[in-house]
Amino acid sequence: MKASLHHRVRVVVLGGGTAGWMTAAGLAKLLPDHAQVTLIESEDIGIVGVGEATLPHIRAFVEKLGIDEAAFMKATHATYKLGIDFRDFGALGTSYIHPFGSFGEEVAGVGFHHWWLDQARRGKAGPLGDYSLAVAAAQANRFRPPAQDQSLASTYGYAYQFDATLFGPFMRSFGMANGVIRHEGRVVSVERSGVDGDVTALILSDGRRIEGDLFVDCSGFRSLLLGETLDESWEDWSEWLPCDRAAAMPCAHVLGAPLRPYTTATAMPAGWRWQIPLQHRMGNGYVFSSAHLSEDEACTAIAAAAEGEALADPRVLRFRAGRRRRSWSRNVVAVGLASGFLEPLESTSIYLSQMAITYLIELFPLGGHCDPRDRDEFNRLVDMEYDRVRDFLILHYHATTRSDSPFWNHVRTMQVPDSLTDKLALWRDAARIEKYSDGLFYDASWFAVYVGQGMVPQAYDKRTALADPARVGRAFDALRKAIADEVAAMPGHADFLGHEAARLASAA
Ligand SMILES: Cc1cc2nc3c(=O)[nH]c(=O)nc-3n(C[C@H](O)[C@H](O)[C@H](O)COP(=O)(O)OP(=O)(O)OC[C@H]3O[C@@H](n4cnc5c(N)ncnc54)[C@H](O)[C@@H]3O)c2cc1C
Repeated sequence: MKASLHHRVRVVVLGGGTAGWMTAAGLAKLLPDHAQVTLIESEDIGIVGVGEATLPHIRAFVEKLGIDEAAFMKATHATYKLGIDFRDFGALGTSYIHPFGSFGEEVAGVGFHHWWLDQARRGKAGPLGDYSLAVAAAQANRFRPPAQDQSLASTYGYAYQFDATLFGPFMRSFGMANGVIRHEGRVVSVERSGVDGDVTALILSDGRRIEGDLFVDCSGFRSLLLGETLDESWEDWSEWLPCDRAAAMPCAHVLGAPLRPYTTATAMPAGWRWQIPLQHRMGNGYVFSSAHLSEDEACTAIAAAAEGEALADPRVLRFRAGRRRRSWSRNVVAVGLASGFLEPLESTSIYLSQMAITYLIELFPLGGHCDPRDRDEFNRLVDMEYDRVRDFLILHYHATTRSDSPFWNHVRTMQVPDSLTDKLALWRDAARIEKYSDGLFYDASWFAVYVGQGMVPQAYDKRTALADPARVGRAFDALRKAIADEVAAMPGHADFLGHEAARLASAA
């Protein structure tokens, strides 16, 4: 790479799926003086085209890029998401919501979950969800954005559920309006420097040669640059996350059914299925282990489970759980499926792309000088993000009492990574939740899943014994009532969406 701060680094993004267009748009918008962005995509190859549920972090991305939320939601037929409703995971017939928000609050330096466990042991606690505004609102199909203050109304976040086939084109228009140069065509070979092995250019099937300084591999599962060309090794996690297929099928909404402000994940005999409500339709898919179910059986099962009229035949997608050992090698950075994949149980894939883009912008090789320490730091951060998500996903499978199918017997009894074994022991012995300040899923998330999946700890913080349980009980009742009142004052999810659409139309 040339090394002058005034040199705009020629960034070539290979791939025009969600990851490619998010990367291109992000770099073009946020590093206009430092990056000159070109993107290559091939309509013949196409995109994965699923990936409809997101995490609240995506709002920061949309906002940073200066995109108007209401316009974005209209263009992608998006709905609001307050969390995920997990059904039949811990045991058949059970369910819980993992919300984007907190439960109660810490008292006298002791986390809310210890107080809840104490009240529960005394038979005085209500269902955990009653102490979370996000859960209570989701259960009532109500929504409004959180308050921007310190009140109860500020104790949750939200994300979007959008049509993945519309999100890419939206980001494409945005990226091109911000200077991204687009080439349609298929890359058939990759040129590398004879000196240091860096990638120097991509050759398209019609002979076009696209040169660059930095290449971002967003070519999807194929991982054309990082995987195929640089032969970066693959770390396989399928022993812990055995689902390796999905049968996806959209259907119409059921007439009269409320528009849910959350995603539903229902455990199935060989995996689980999603329901993601969009404005115009419901996304459905069965994520399954091919060692336990055939593709035909999965297609039949998802077609039978979809509640509304089918809008297309089921489509099977194949994948494996894991990641490339390094996401940045030489002058190639992989973002999205080219870097790795963790199944969509907690809607984390687009988040992982977003974080890779954020870290790339922070550690961008200004002027073309790529400091190996920056590259190492990028890889460390991306690894950390993947590891956090991996353990959290495994928890949903492993913490179960289900013994009704070979799949659930396998995941219930399998050895889990040491990092998760340690976390589980902390919870079981003392209701402690491992603290970390970076990456996804903090205390409230682990708490929701531990309790939701029926993991009762042997002990909890002894300081709870110093408080008067009746007083704590009254505080619990007051919180429940305040949450119920707050929810009652919220508009319905569909009404709020309608209101936002009308506001957008009148502003136009
Ligand atoms: C079943 C399933 C469900 C999912 N659900 C969720 C979810 O709910 N939430 C979430 O966050 N994520 C989800 N994901 C992940 C999400 O779909 C991906 O993160 C997202 O689509 C990004 O994909 P991508 O851009 O990396 O790859 P792709 O969409 O595969 O795009 C690859 C691009 O590379 C181009 N390309 C490839 N080879 C060449 C070549 N030789 N020449 C030119 N162009 C080329 C293609 O044309 C395409 O434009 C899900 C994934 C699966 C499989």
